[in-house]
Amino acid sequence: MPDLTRDAVLETLNRIPDPLSGQGLSDAGLVRGLVVSPERVGFMIEVPQDQVPAYQDVRSQAEATLARLPGVRKAQVVLTAETPGAPSRGPSARLSERAVNDAKPKAPVATARPDHVRHVIVVGSGKGGVGKSTLSLAIALGLKAQGLRVGFLDADIYGPSAPVMLGLNTPPEFGEDKRMVPPEACGLKVNSVGFLVDPDQAMIWRGPMASQALTQLLTQTRWGTVEEPLDVLVVDLPPGTGDVQLTLTQKTLIDGAVVISTPQEMALSDARRAVTLFAKTGINVLGIVENMAWFSAPDGSEIEIFGRGGARALAETLKVPFLGEVPLDPRLRQGSDTGRPLTVAEPDGPVARRFHAIAATIAQALGTSN
Ligand code: ADP
Repeated sequence: MPDLTRDAVLETLNRIPDPLSGQGLSDAGLVRGLVVSPERVGFMIEVPQDQVPAYQDVRSQAEATLARLPGVRKAQVVLTAETPGAPSRGPSARLSERAVNDAKPKAPVATARPDHVRHVIVVGSGKGGVGKSTLSLAIALGLKAQGLRVGFLDADIYGPSAPVMLGLNTPPEFGEDKRMVPPEACGLKVNSVGFLVDPDQAMIWRGPMASQALTQLLTQTRWGTVEEPLDVLVVDLPPGTGDVQLTLTQKTLIDGAVVISTPQEMALSDARRAVTLFAKTGINVLGIVENMAWFSAPDGSEIEIFGRGGARALAETLKVPFLGEVPLDPRLRQGSDTGRPLTVAEPDGPVARRFHAIAATIAQALGTSN
């Protein structure tokens, strides 16, 4: 689809009128999270709950229009209801950001997991760049090494990294039931927000949109079947304590949370916030992992670049388990960058053994150990 540009798609969509304002869909601010990729074109229409029926036809019309564009293999338009309390749609709504505190959950916590998934765990961090994605994948692989059936959901809208870390460039196919069939890599069933949108788009989503995308990835992916349910779904959350994390707790039953931190003071104070958020929303905090705890120099000495032991101390203070420490090891980064995780390349290496131990503790806490 070499010639199809975002502008051309927006222009085409603008020829479809918004039943409410009479403006074209693009001008009315109804085209959200537009993806134009060689594989697919798609976007979301987000309207207040009571207007959803009025927009069903618009959705099908938009999807049919996109499907007719030259070179488009798949077109998908998703109609979603705005989260109550979110700003109404329109240009001003697009500019506004909801303060995190406005989203404090009053709603009851969810009581169901996605279909055919036995346990859901989330991996969070107070801030970005602490190795949350790298470690959540390594933990998922560690659980797989325990003989469990494991899924990995990369929900980090600020930097979806699973496709790169796993060398995966095939987005999920859609099954007969319109659910996404997740591709498999390293024995994990994988889905990523990076398959649905281009990362630049994802980053500017308002909270409700990001949450909606996450809900879709969680519930509209065929993670398991009746015969072969998934034992554990590991969700790599965006960093921080925002809307996405809060909404998730209302959408799915979460069996536990793991928090990743580096040993620096700054990272630790943010990690404390993350632990508090999970605890406040009734999620069992499985524990804290300290990443980049030391670096092994060629002479065998251990250099504690960021200090060491801070996360262990924090876990003690907060009375949550300390799950273990992981060294700064350039091979971990190289593995992520080249799509061959270190724990797969060197399953018996010292780093992999650490992740196996962390995964074993988690599996035991979940009651899934083999
Ligand atoms: P986050 O998800 O917290 O933003 P990432 O997992 O994307 O962090 O990690 C940020 C960068 O640091 C990546 O390049 C990753 O490969 C690298 N990295 C993470 N943990 C380690 C580690 N223990 N040793 C070496 N590099 C690491």
